[in-house]
Amino acid sequence: MLNIVDVISKKRDCEKLTPEEIQFFVKGFTEGTVTDYQAAALAMAICINKMDIEEITQLTMAMRDSGETLRPQDVVDFCVDKHSTGGVGDKTTMIVQPIVSSCGVAVAKMSGRGLGYSGGTIDKLESIPGIRLDLSKEEFLEQLRTNRSVISGQSIALAPADGKLYALRDVTGTVPSQALIASSIMSKKLAIGTDAILLDVKVGRGAFMKNIEMARELASIMIGIGKGCGRMVRCEISDMNQPLGYQVGNILEVKEAVSFLKNEPGIAPDLYDHCIDSSAQLLMMASKADSLEEGRRMAKEAVTSGRAFESFCRLVRIQDGDEGYLQDPSRFPEAPLHRTITADRAGWIAEFDAEAVGQAGVELGGGRHRKTDTLDYRVGITVCQKVGSRVEKGDPLFVVHAHSEDTADFAQRHILDGIRISDTAVEPLPQFYGLMS
Ligand code: URA
Repeated sequence: MLNIVDVISKKRDCEKLTPEEIQFFVKGFTEGTVTDYQAAALAMAICINKMDIEEITQLTMAMRDSGETLRPQDVVDFCVDKHSTGGVGDKTTMIVQPIVSSCGVAVAKMSGRGLGYSGGTIDKLESIPGIRLDLSKEEFLEQLRTNRSVISGQSIALAPADGKLYALRDVTGTVPSQALIASSIMSKKLAIGTDAILLDVKVGRGAFMKNIEMARELASIMIGIGKGCGRMVRCEISDMNQPLGYQVGNILEVKEAVSFLKNEPGIAPDLYDHCIDSSAQLLMMASKADSLEEGRRMAKEAVTSGRAFESFCRLVRIQDGDEGYLQDPSRFPEAPLHRTITADRAGWIAEFDAEAVGQAGVELGGGRHRKTDTLDYRVGITVCQKVGSRVEKGDPLFVVHAHSEDTADFAQRHILDGIRISDTAVEPLPQFYGLMS
């Protein structure tokens, strides 16, 4: 007879868990016989003592099988999905999904909430009044059939074990584990059952993978799991040393995504290149483009023609969101306090620590400390400079959008600690460090 305390103790003592023990944990946690504190203890033991590829594969399968699984092939011919391992200012799903679907590729997406200091697409989208992201399995498939683009949170009965564990990891310091990240992402991807999956594995200060070796290892674990289940999986390794784009915060990021999709001037070049390249990869995986160049051209045309913005509006409208906020983003509420922080000397930006910005965002009220915390969608940070930019004394470095002077003070100090200005010229950071498949 298995006992959860023995399973936790085994991992605490660096032993390998058997498939039966892993399935016992996942089933018990899903059904509630394994408590949150026991799951948190096991998650911490896994974080510290790791799992090998067999254990990770077992954990992924057990979480996939903890709920229903979908067969999108029953309603669309071919369907893609993209997922990021988590970053700061990462609003790419809100941009890439409409671009790709407006190029005729079906996209089925199940997204998560914020995790630690990294934001989550569901929290961002929930800042759009009325939007429903708790679709049932039937609604999800029906919308995929009729609209060929659908997004839901984890309310859907897919991989419920991951939904529970994800929320627990967010508030117990157990996010940055290759085993837990790979199994979390791949259990959802396998439960949704899309034909092709693009994974954006982020690396750097604001990512859970702090160096390229760790990022490559995570990518190869996820590719291995996907291939073992007959899915086409590609992984982009992308930079997360500095925030992606200019905005960090739920409403701020929705507005930045809208501005991108409306083809407005002034889009951050790193965000632009990232979204166009990821869209191009998905178009190639769906055999709509023969080369990256052709995919990029199609993605750009989807934006300039207005089709991508239309696709985003339609997605929001069908899911009961108030599309008027996308047509006129000035309707979104703003944080009561805006504070601009300027450079105290001239030079080149050498560091703009994404983790510090992400943590400041959580402290401002845009992320959670406890599972039950409610978010202030208005708060966040506008990043005015990128690594490699030349600044003069008095140039804006960032703007804090806060609800109180106290939280603004904390955010200001914290972000400033993560900015370094150099006397010599600094190269901009690369966007990608490679593609693995
Ligand atoms: N995204 C997920 O879905 N899970 C993780 O653990 C990290 C990023």
